Amino acid sequence: MRFSELARVFRKMEDTSSRLALTDELAKVFKESEPGEMRKLVYLCQGIVKPAHEGIELGMAGKLAMRSISISSGKKQEDIEKIYRKEGDLGLAAEIAMGKRTQGVLVRQEPSVEKVYGNFYKIATAGGSGSQDLKVKLLSELLGSCEAEEARILVRFVTGSLRMGVGDATIIDALSYWAAGDKRFHDDIARAYNMRGDLGLVAELLFSKGIEAVKRISPEPFDPIRPALAERLPSAKEIFERLGKCAVEGKYDGFRIQVHVKGGRIEIYSRRQEKITHMFPDIVAAVKKQVKAKEIIFEGEAIAYSDETGTFQPFQVTIQRKRKHEVEEKAAELPLKLFAFELLFIDGKDYTQKPYRERVEKLRQTIAAGDTIDLAHRITASTPEEINAFFDESVSSGLEGIIAKDLEAPYVAGARKFAWIKLKKSYKGELTDTLDVAIVGYYRGKGNRTEFGLGGILTAAYDDSKNVFKTIAKIGTGFSEEQMAQFKKTLDEIKSKDRPAQVDSVLEPDVWVKPKYVVTVNADEITRSPTHTCGIGKIKGHENEGLALRFPRLVGDIRTDKSAEDATTEKEVLEMFSMQKQKATEPSGQA
Ligand code: AMP
Repeated sequence: MRFSELARVFRKMEDTSSRLALTDELAKVFKESEPGEMRKLVYLCQGIVKPAHEGIELGMAGKLAMRSISISSGKKQEDIEKIYRKEGDLGLAAEIAMGKRTQGVLVRQEPSVEKVYGNFYKIATAGGSGSQDLKVKLLSELLGSCEAEEARILVRFVTGSLRMGVGDATIIDALSYWAAGDKRFHDDIARAYNMRGDLGLVAELLFSKGIEAVKRISPEPFDPIRPALAERLPSAKEIFERLGKCAVEGKYDGFRIQVHVKGGRIEIYSRRQEKITHMFPDIVAAVKKQVKAKEIIFEGEAIAYSDETGTFQPFQVTIQRKRKHEVEEKAAELPLKLFAFELLFIDGKDYTQKPYRERVEKLRQTIAAGDTIDLAHRITASTPEEINAFFDESVSSGLEGIIAKDLEAPYVAGARKFAWIKLKKSYKGELTDTLDVAIVGYYRGKGNRTEFGLGGILTAAYDDSKNVFKTIAKIGTGFSEEQMAQFKKTLDEIKSKDRPAQVDSVLEPDVWVKPKYVVTVNADEITRSPTHTCGIGKIKGHENEGLALRFPRLVGDIRTDKSAEDATTEKEVLEMFSMQKQKATEPSGQA
């Protein structure tokens, strides 16, 4: 396929947020694809060159891209910078500059998708001395052979600012339409993707071997499995009504990791499937000592623990262990404990389909006693009172709450299901749970806050059915001065001249940003709101109103462990809103 065809579709997709239209366009692209191209096409649609766990990221610096534009358009770099400053968007600047190129183009060799992907891959993997020049050359080679409108897409892609609102779910829909003519294959494709975290691989298999092969996909060490997520209910009583006799585990507020072992190799992945092994030499050493299996994939929560006081550290302290430098020093200062809670694969066998009780029993047999790895503390509860007692005990030992687990459920990769139900402690006058919201813009601030250039942020919940971010809160409280400056710097790198296509908002912040970063927020309650878009049309009797957080307060820093799509969903917010109403009418408080 020629790149120009793909770029034409990408441009169209930048202008629409209708999931149906996007699916339709994508399915057409897949129909046109040639053998061997499918995998790369899917990665390009995802805006990546390789799945997250391979750690190959494009992210070319704007300055370098400008040098490429300058070379291929024959314009001076200062002129490109001028256009950029005026337009506020490098892709547009490239389009304008290339439209007025001064260098004669004699015979243009239109690049194929294959060629463009190849250059992107080389840009992403170039390292060492001379790599900057190489990147500039690779991009300008592409720009030189493309039309001006394609230049826009190329530059947005390499600088990570493509605006297509196409999420994984839409790509999966499109793959199903392409292979079956309808959504019939969606669930099988999604399951395979959740198992292997590589949609390109699944698409290629679908293309070459058909849906039956996709159905047979099972876990494989070093392909991280997308994590199962927890639902929430407001009380032990309701949890028990839903699950009956169930397992109850402490909820540790650290970070979730997935450990993979095979052939003597050990890797650790984050909940976003990034490889983070190098950050945790202490856990790697403990896996060698304590895990009695040749091949395994298991999950747990790593949390900093103080032996002196015998208490768990708060998330803000634990997260300091996620770092690239001075790893050993921090490991000595903040030793981690890993509370293992899930077994997904062991010695060639897929455990994801087995019931929880079997998975956990096998995990227990596999992890030997030791200093670093322990099983998550758990009980089997036969009454709501037992759940409550364990909840109280967990909270008083410094945990966030509990997670109840369905004893018979399989591991539901990549989905939020009632197989796991969380119950968190609530303080007086606060929601029982914090929310993770995506930042979609910021305000410059008034009074003494103008000095930092940022006085508050506009945040949104995620509507995963439409791949759209809907606003829920303006947050101006809970920031330290240092944070305000830091947030501004981080957000300026992803600012957008106009409202990003994926954002649904009535409010206009001073600066829009692409939904990329997530923050945790606490609030007193969820209220109906005339100005926010989260929940609009979905509250019975109040269809014109949305939902907002009352007195939202920032908790901690930007959550580097979550991506925008991991933000609390609109559906969850609606559930929390109705639980809160329910609670307000209950005679006694929690549980
Ligand atoms: P939340 O992020 O609030 O939706 O809660 C789910 C998260 O709790 C999981 O992604 C884990 O990181 C964490 N967690 C802590 N303890 C456990 C546990 N015992 N079982 C499962 N998840 C846990």
